[in-house]
Amino acid sequence: MRDTERTVLTDGILCDGKGGEPFPGDVFLCRDRIEAVVPPGTKVRAGYRTVSVRGCAVCPGFIDAHAHSDLTLLADPKAEGKIFQGITTEISGNCGQSFFPVTELNREHLERDCRNLDIPLDWSDASGYFERVDRARPSVNCAFLCGHNTLRAAAAGYEEKNLPESGLQKMTELLRASLRAGSPGLSSGLIYVPGRFAGREELARLCSVLREFDALYATHMRSEGDGLEEALEEALYLARCGSGRLEISHLKTAQPRNWGKLESVFRRIGEARAEGLRVTADRYPWVHSQTSLSIVLPGAYDSLTDAEIQRRLSSSDTERAAVLPELEKRPHWERVLLTFTSLPEYRTLLGLSIPEAAGRTGMSSGSFVLDVLTRDGARARGAFGGLSPENMEKIILRDWVCCGTDESARPFDESLGRSHPRGFDSFPRFLNLVRSRLGLAEAVRKVTSLPASVFRLKGRGVLAPGAFADLTVLDPDRFRGTADFASPHSPCEGLRQVWVNGILALGPEGTVRCAGRVCRHAD
Ligand SMILES: [Zn+2]
Repeated sequence: MRDTERTVLTDGILCDGKGGEPFPGDVFLCRDRIEAVVPPGTKVRAGYRTVSVRGCAVCPGFIDAHAHSDLTLLADPKAEGKIFQGITTEISGNCGQSFFPVTELNREHLERDCRNLDIPLDWSDASGYFERVDRARPSVNCAFLCGHNTLRAAAAGYEEKNLPESGLQKMTELLRASLRAGSPGLSSGLIYVPGRFAGREELARLCSVLREFDALYATHMRSEGDGLEEALEEALYLARCGSGRLEISHLKTAQPRNWGKLESVFRRIGEARAEGLRVTADRYPWVHSQTSLSIVLPGAYDSLTDAEIQRRLSSSDTERAAVLPELEKRPHWERVLLTFTSLPEYRTLLGLSIPEAAGRTGMSSGSFVLDVLTRDGARARGAFGGLSPENMEKIILRDWVCCGTDESARPFDESLGRSHPRGFDSFPRFLNLVRSRLGLAEAVRKVTSLPASVFRLKGRGVLAPGAFADLTVLDPDRFRGTADFASPHSPCEGLRQVWVNGILALGPEGTVRCAGRVCRHAD
């Protein structure tokens, strides 16, 4: 299938993205825009190529509210993991980590990440970075929050310290420049270095800059478990200091002892929304979160990088002997899955729980994990099932919660690393869950116009004349994901076509064509 300047998709079941009941109709596309949405059988003028989408739902393109594709889009612009689940736009720069602004104080650190993917760091500010992404021409549209960790490091490095007035001023200037260049807001990741060294007042100062632009504050809160309620209060306080727009990243109640806190979290968010704050959240439809396997080590290792941990364990028998009993007595190994190791002899164990994997090697859970961390600690990853399935459903069903993969766009081959399965299957799961309870129209709204309004993506997220021709066309009875921890890079079923800016980005033959753009806020 080839596209021309003008196309009409005929006989679809149209979802407007705003929650209106789906209705039969045709969609006319002209260049990068939707030209008209009309009843079926409307006469087609000459010059239009006709594509039948009979029986398929035609939705505005899905928007991934929480991505980490800042570098992977440059390394592999096809973004297969995203486009193959119907995503046409993703928001990166989350959890405090963006790749702008760059100064002498954070350049080396950011360069290290770039070098891992063979990307020359040849930009310094948001404008330069956005131009670089536009030149790479990804398959999906993208917008980038300005990360607080990057900002703080740009102004004052990575050390633990309070910032003097000059440092705060430097940060506010850099943030203002990023927002002016078109970033939709500020993100924080208050468990990471150096963001976690920031107190409330530093963040309040930055949020006051957001007010000038009516820009968003998106936060990976200081706690998602034991300190969840206090962390939420901090986020609400900061929303009041800022524009009133607050996006809570990957909202969850971590660890079973905190599962009972969800009702109070909902109550506080409800009150804040009633007060006029525009509080929203995103969530991935999975109960395992994936991170370095090294987080199972005792607290003394918290401040070390994975490479340092591996060095230390591999060079000292005494160290290993001291750690082993700690690992052996850790409860609930069955909730931890081994999701990545580069050790070839363990590759067949990926996706298994630690006791299952250990059992196949004849080791105890503790010795197995210690072996992996000693020989592959900088690479090994695990999935931790500390989340409640019931709470996940309740969160996803709230009308102010959109879908965020919390993943980088990666190719099917594992050349850019192995993803959490949510990198290939978040939207099918999320959509099907919401659809089964609240219907297709609401499910589509939550993955289209809702995130478009949260991140102020002008002209996206709706099926309406004048909007960008970003479309996700799917068979509603067959749309489902197939990814799991054993084979996370699997495409979903039932996706028929994906259009980005009027170009058929993914058609039935499975070839990806790249037509994405950076969405700058002033656009
Ligand atoms: Zn995060």
